[in-house]
Amino acid sequence: MKKKENYTITWKKFFGHLHTINKHRVKVLYLCFKAGIPWQGLIHDLSKYSPIEFFEGVKYYSGNYSPIHNCKQENGYSKAWLHHKGRNKHHYEYWYDYETITISPVIPYKYVVEMICDSLAAGIIYQKKNWTKDYQLNYWIKTRSNAKIHPAIDLLLTKVYQDISKEGIEKVLNKKNLTFLYNKYVNEYEIPNIKNKN
Ligand SMILES: [Zn+2]
Repeated sequence: MKKKENYTITWKKFFGHLHTINKHRVKVLYLCFKAGIPWQGLIHDLSKYSPIEFFEGVKYYSGNYSPIHNCKQENGYSKAWLHHKGRNKHHYEYWYDYETITISPVIPYKYVVEMICDSLAAGIIYQKKNWTKDYQLNYWIKTRSNAKIHPAIDLLLTKVYQDISKEGIEKVLNKKNLTFLYNKYVNEYEIPNIKNKN
């Protein structure tokens, strides 16, 4: 049987978690500047400093991956995550609504780009020296089948991560290229069932 973890709040975990958030936000800010969405970078993940998100993060802090994972393992759900995804539009889970026609709508440009910066930053920080430019594509391939996401956004993300795996972040993450790809994959995407209705 798996040994039960001892999840308590300590100063070490408090500062460890605070440092993880700050480090992540700095990396996201850097990538958002590159991508031409500095404001999204500045306000990225600010809700992580709210007590409901912050203290759960301290309690389930691990250092190598998200504390939300530990909390879900322990309790079956994470209040921090429910709070976070309800307020942060750069998560496709924010847009998910099973009662709508497409389940997840087309997500506006700036949030999709912030999502890309966020996932790249998380990979780079957690993988450290093991990070390679094809890391995000491999991660995305594993997760995309479970992602309730609009098909156009799915295609766009796959294309961006494929390009990064070949050419690296520098070449792909700039405003000109990203607006071009968003136009191509999202704005020009045809949804036959919906468009043909009228
Ligand atoms: Zn977030």
